[in-house]
Amino acid sequence: MALKGRHIPERTCIACRQSREKKHLIRLVHTKDGVVEVDLSAQKPGRGAYLCPKRDCWELGLRGSRLEYALRVKLTRDNRQALMSYAGELPRGD
Ligand SMILES: [Zn+2]
Repeated sequence: MALKGRHIPERTCIACRQSREKKHLIRLVHTKDGVVEVDLSAQKPGRGAYLCPKRDCWELGLRGSRLEYALRVKLTRDNRQALMSYAGELPRGD
């Protein structure tokens, strides 16, 4: 009997709904300033949502209201633009 059942934290991508290990997802956080930021440390306080590190998921998440719904926030145009440009750096799907 090895160390079976060791808990690996999993989260669900809000775009493709796939569960993955938390470390394989990128966290977005709704900060107290009412802005949504990319949280690469995954430790910032505030409501969080997760997306795969691929552009398709970001576009899907940002285009509709999925992200806003998950984070209970209304994205401003600038905020959405900033997240979109971050998405532009990510590789296309897999
Ligand atoms: Zn995804």
